[in-house]
Amino acid sequence: MDADKDIQLDELYQDIILDHHKSPRNYGPLPDPDLKAEGFNPFCGDRVGLGISLDGAGRIEAVGFSGEGCAISQASASMMSELLKGRTVDEAESLTAVFKGIMQGRDMTEEEEKRLGELAALEGVKKFPIRIKCALLGWSALQDAIDHYRQGTALHP
Ligand code: ZN
Repeated sequence: MDADKDIQLDELYQDIILDHHKSPRNYGPLPDPDLKAEGFNPFCGDRVGLGISLDGAGRIEAVGFSGEGCAISQASASMMSELLKGRTVDEAESLTAVFKGIMQGRDMTEEEEKRLGELAALEGVKKFPIRIKCALLGWSALQDAIDHYRQGTALHP
């Protein structure tokens, strides 16, 4: 067997990723979300549905995600759902840009590692190009949700 490959896979499926996959946080749809979107990755059949409710001050009050698929897609969405609480929509978008940049190959700075918290555990995924889409699925849904929200608020102020 290819020993190197086994070591890489061990790295990839760290405890933290498996824990979020087994016990996803904020799982289940929200009743009346202000932002919502869905993501689908046909390559491995991953799905993530995302709903976000804002409080009166425009901060993210609740996040609900649902979905199915590989551990990386679900764990990434679960970790994202925790990270988003209490943030503004602008902050959520800025975190999306940071996480995407790192998944697409940029080195993570120490400051970014702090900002991303548990999501830093997914950094190793970028060595597996096929899995990058899995890690980004929930974040792509988030970006879609933000885009629709902005268009909606622009149309109906
Ligand atoms: Zn996947």
